[in-house]
Amino acid sequence: MPTIQRSYKLRIYPTAVQAQRLACDFGCARWVWNTCLAWRSNLYRAEGESVTGVDFSRELTFLKRLPGYEWLADAPATILTQKLRDQDQAFANFFAGRAKFPRLKKKGHAQSIRYQLDQRIVAGLYRPGELLKVPKLGALKVRWSRVPAGIPKLVTISRDAAGRYFAAFMVEEEVQPLPEKPNGVGVDLGVKDLAITSDGARFGNARPLQRLLRRLKHAQRVLSRRRKGSGNWHRQRQRSARLHVRIADLRRELTHQASHAIVTGAGLIAIEDLHVKGMCASAKGTLEQPGRRVRQKAGLNRAILDAALGEVRRQIAYKAEWNGRVLVVVDRWAPSSKTCSHCGHVLGALPLSVRAWSCPNCGTAHDRDVNAARNLLAWATGGGAGTRNDACGAVTIPEALTA
Ligand SMILES: [Zn+2]
Repeated sequence: MPTIQRSYKLRIYPTAVQAQRLACDFGCARWVWNTCLAWRSNLYRAEGESVTGVDFSRELTFLKRLPGYEWLADAPATILTQKLRDQDQAFANFFAGRAKFPRLKKKGHAQSIRYQLDQRIVAGLYRPGELLKVPKLGALKVRWSRVPAGIPKLVTISRDAAGRYFAAFMVEEEVQPLPEKPNGVGVDLGVKDLAITSDGARFGNARPLQRLLRRLKHAQRVLSRRRKGSGNWHRQRQRSARLHVRIADLRRELTHQASHAIVTGAGLIAIEDLHVKGMCASAKGTLEQPGRRVRQKAGLNRAILDAALGEVRRQIAYKAEWNGRVLVVVDRWAPSSKTCSHCGHVLGALPLSVRAWSCPNCGTAHDRDVNAARNLLAWATGGGAGTRNDACGAVTIPEALTA
């Protein structure tokens, strides 16, 4: 059985006292993050000197002894150290070109702190399904929506913009792979349905998501008309924050449903190499994906739907690996939509608004998405009459398949 790192995020319900304590600790961690960020930016700008979070934690030890800074010593030391490590990681990501420059943390946004669970006494701190106890907060009331098998080393406690609290951690677990499947499936990622398979199945209907997105857009327009800082403004801001978390929850649910169904259903999964950057290029008309509806709605909607597609891909990839499925990534420049999956005829053009078409060569009637998914499967497995003879032989076949 393969061992994997599985992450859990469980809802917690702190008592009023714990919530107050958490507010202090969040504030403390935020102060450390912001101060360290300003300190290292200034040092770099003024003297060209690079410092790290480790350097800052030495300064912190000194600061804690100064009058006016005693409150720093009140917070558990590990959460401050962890915040500084996070910042070092954020800088590493920035320098590697994976992320933007780390930003200041604000009070109204989501907050998080991370605790280290002392492994020597972990039995007294953590029992799956029963107990979660963190330094200075004590035992937390947890909704164990799923019971983890492993023991976490670090626990992140967070509060989202809608005021909900969560505990998140990673544990090592052994997975029982799904039963083997002899069949293959092609998967096309779309906007009306997040995933469409070559069998004609559709997963993750995005309509409820789009409805929430419309409501969010409205809520934000109303917010922009409110006087900043007024009572009405605060209430409206809460309203949009709640919509934001509902969208995030629904997106998570939809993407997991889709990826789970696909990985369960087939032994080989063929998918387009359609990363988020490529999708953004399509907004300018350089690629045929995704659908037209999304193209018309610029901004937030796009970003959220694109993220959902990226999420489905990512989940299919790791779930395939956990379960011993073969994942084949087909080159994204292949015109999967424009090629007839029956005879291999390639259309000159296929406008995004056309959802169904008939092949002028062989007369087969096609659903746009299902046809694309069939092509992906055919190219991935190197089969399919005619389909290999067109200009899109660019197929990446992993060693697992050729061996
Ligand atoms: Zn045809």
